[in-house]
Amino acid sequence: MPTTLVTGGAGFLGSHLCEHLLGKGHHVICVDNLETGSLHNISHIREERFDFRMIDITSHYEVEESIDFVYHMASPASPIDYARLPLHTMRVGAYGTHNTLGLSKAKRARFLIASTSEVYGDPLVHPQPETYWGNVNPIGPRGVYDEAKRYAEALTMAYLRQQGVDTCIARIFNTFGARMRPHDGRAIPTFLRQALESKPVTVFGDGSQTRSFCYVDDLIRGLVALNESGVHDPVNIGNPSEMSLLEMAEACVELTGSTSEIVFEALPEDDPKIRQPDITRARELLGWEPEIPTEEGLKRTVEWAKTATGYARRVEGATVKP
Ligand code: NAD
Repeated sequence: MPTTLVTGGAGFLGSHLCEHLLGKGHHVICVDNLETGSLHNISHIREERFDFRMIDITSHYEVEESIDFVYHMASPASPIDYARLPLHTMRVGAYGTHNTLGLSKAKRARFLIASTSEVYGDPLVHPQPETYWGNVNPIGPRGVYDEAKRYAEALTMAYLRQQGVDTCIARIFNTFGARMRPHDGRAIPTFLRQALESKPVTVFGDGSQTRSFCYVDDLIRGLVALNESGVHDPVNIGNPSEMSLLEMAEACVELTGSTSEIVFEALPEDDPKIRQPDITRARELLGWEPEIPTEEGLKRTVEWAKTATGYARRVEGATVKP
């Protein structure tokens, strides 16, 4: 039975990943300091092969067990979180990644870092292949996150080249699904919460900026395929089906059966205008591509949100506040 360490395992993606790995028979050690994650995300997991450890990975940490795989998912990830925690975000990218790579080296474990499409910044190339070096503003409000991830990628390559650690880099594009926090500021949870509360749905700018939204189950399959491969170069994991944020807002209103109107607000600084992964590398090297269309993923997420804490529920025509 493989033993797998997941940092940030009580977060949105981390908790889905832990469940998936348990389903594959792994012993899963989930490490988290609950900065942006929650025990609520993992409290339903009953397997004895699941260990939760409350650890802040920015300080040196150790694990007694031998470990086969590491998934380094810990990091504030939404613009609201990294605006609130700018120094912590940089510390996680730097010290947290150092500590986790060091542990992977000591355990001879295969290491995956959850990087991000934000390393491409506001891209000048479309769609974005892994060979694109990006267009990032290091001193803007998103710089703490984008540059922490770019540093973490450079560090990962240094541990691969100089320290002989078996590493890989997943560049994750926008992902959605159950367990997104209703107030984390990301587009889909915000639109769903507002639509379910029958409040105005707020779209930034004119809504023409695009994103490519991947359903969480597809994303997790991609991460696991990458960590179980021998690939070291960065691989984009995301859904290339691109849509504008206005189209996504309209879909959220329609699928929730809401009467909310759509309103427009000022575009945040450095908000990327386009975002679409080129997934040729994932297809060729991993045989991976998304299987769940965005609309189907959205339907599943709406069903979850209708009963989830923090999202209003509609019961027999009335709206019940969370
Ligand atoms: P999340 O905030 O739900 O999860 C992050 C987890 O890391 C949380 O449980 C948090 O408590 C934990 N954490 C933060 N600092 C820590 C520390 N010092 N020590 C231990 N644990 C710590 O975010 P998410 O959306 O699940 O993102 C997970 C990873 O995937 C992040 O690295 C993020 O950058 C990356 N990513 C996510 C997306 C997306 O669309 N969700 C897109 C690109 C990249």
